[in-house]
Amino acid sequence: MTIALDLPPQDFWIDGRWTRPASSNRFAVINASTGEQITSVPESVTEDIDMAVAAARRAFDESDWSSWSAEQRASAINSLAEQIEGRRAETARAVSIQNGMPISIASATEAVIPATLLRYYAELATAQPIEERRTAFGGAGTTVVRREPIGVVAAVVPWNFPQTLTFFKVAPLLAAGCTVVIKPSPETVLDSYVLAAAIEASDIPDGVINIVHGGREVGAHLVAHPGVDKVAFTGSTPAGRAIGEVCGRLIRPVTLELGGKSASIILDDADLSSLLEQFFAATLMNNGQTCYLGTRVLVPRTRHRETVDILTDFARSLKVGDALEATTQIGPLATANQQKRVENYIAKGLADGGRITTGGSRPDAGNGWFVAPTVFDDVDNSHTIAREEIFGPVLAVLSYNDVDEAIAIANDSDFGLGGTVWTSDQERGIDVARRVQTGSVGVNNYALDFSSPFGGVKASGLGRELGPEGLHAYQQTKSIFLP
Ligand code: NAD
Repeated sequence: MTIALDLPPQDFWIDGRWTRPASSNRFAVINASTGEQITSVPESVTEDIDMAVAAARRAFDESDWSSWSAEQRASAINSLAEQIEGRRAETARAVSIQNGMPISIASATEAVIPATLLRYYAELATAQPIEERRTAFGGAGTTVVRREPIGVVAAVVPWNFPQTLTFFKVAPLLAAGCTVVIKPSPETVLDSYVLAAAIEASDIPDGVINIVHGGREVGAHLVAHPGVDKVAFTGSTPAGRAIGEVCGRLIRPVTLELGGKSASIILDDADLSSLLEQFFAATLMNNGQTCYLGTRVLVPRTRHRETVDILTDFARSLKVGDALEATTQIGPLATANQQKRVENYIAKGLADGGRITTGGSRPDAGNGWFVAPTVFDDVDNSHTIAREEIFGPVLAVLSYNDVDEAIAIANDSDFGLGGTVWTSDQERGIDVARRVQTGSVGVNNYALDFSSPFGGVKASGLGRELGPEGLHAYQQTKSIFLP
């Protein structure tokens, strides 16, 4: 079944087949660039979710999937990668039209990363033995240490990078031998229909990947479902807290990838003008709707005016427009609510004493959920816009006197997800990066490395995705003692 974006989908992908919804509930899918409805999709109710979990349960407990060799699973995983690769353009378009991600970014990320991750984890799992023999400490006997798949996973994902974040979970969990029920965000569902078509055409066995649709209630039912063994969540810190509480009560393993308010520390020797492309990727990518962006820009007092001018001119130069236009650098925000939220933060920034040097209003870019790229100067780290995640194209500039103060400001945050250091001396940059309380940090750029762990400290989350650590998150160890 191929999904044309103008055909309203009727079914859910459950148990390896298109399955009629239990109710007639539907919700609208909106084009973020125009504010117009594109189509509608069925909404899952309890019966649909129960059916999806039961299918994932059967595929884990009763089929051979979880006991296949890593090579057998790798072959099925690579067949899914191939099917996804055949749908790159469809995936990029589906994401851009719904969440406003500029198509150039969607084509380089959402269209590419899922298959890359599948291939990476297929290879990693075949290279990593699931059993090792250890000589017991003190020499008395041997222990066989096994890594076994954890079971049925509930994967709850947000709308900002819907396919990439789905595959942060699905690629390693498949490689580990788990099964999954995915719940995309209701703001981005069409791309999951493209994914379902790819699964249908692949060698992934029935019931291994299932998809349900809906909002918070659907997610909450899935997270607490007795048939689920692990929850993998990416989203906001408040939702992560709620999910963490449920999982704590159930003693259910959970990975929480949550919000951020990361710092971009510009050192006094930085040549920012020559690094603006990298700076854009690290602070404004996807219209500011990327969790790890360093939107608190820490600038040395000695170079304050010059740096604010560079940032202001740069933000002003960005092309704002329809997400599907190839030249668009800043598209609309994902939803009308998101636009309001960002505008409220801009108002709070002004009320707290910040000064806007560019942006701060709706640009002349159409009826979608646009906010112009905005730079705030004169921000103090106590201001709301320095403390809370805005999730829009808004940079807050803060001044510091020396490096110790810069690090103190960077670390004075409830969050700790990403961040960057900008300098012409890489070793100096690494020294500063070592002192930042965060899950990951870049020097003169920030790009995810799929072979290295990603995740947050403090209110930015629990656990790690990507790298071998991301595979281990879907395995539990068993020790078999031998005399
Ligand atoms: P959100 O928390 O509102 O929703 C995320 C997902 O969780 C959606 O599918 C939603 O339907 C579901 N959900 C919400 N409440 C739930 C509950 N109580 N139980 C079960 N499911 C629930 O987040 P969002 O607005 O979709 O995404 C933006 C947020 O995601 C930002 O805070 C951003 O920083 C964060 N994010 C974090 C990372 C990371 O890796 N740390 C990556 C991307 C986005």
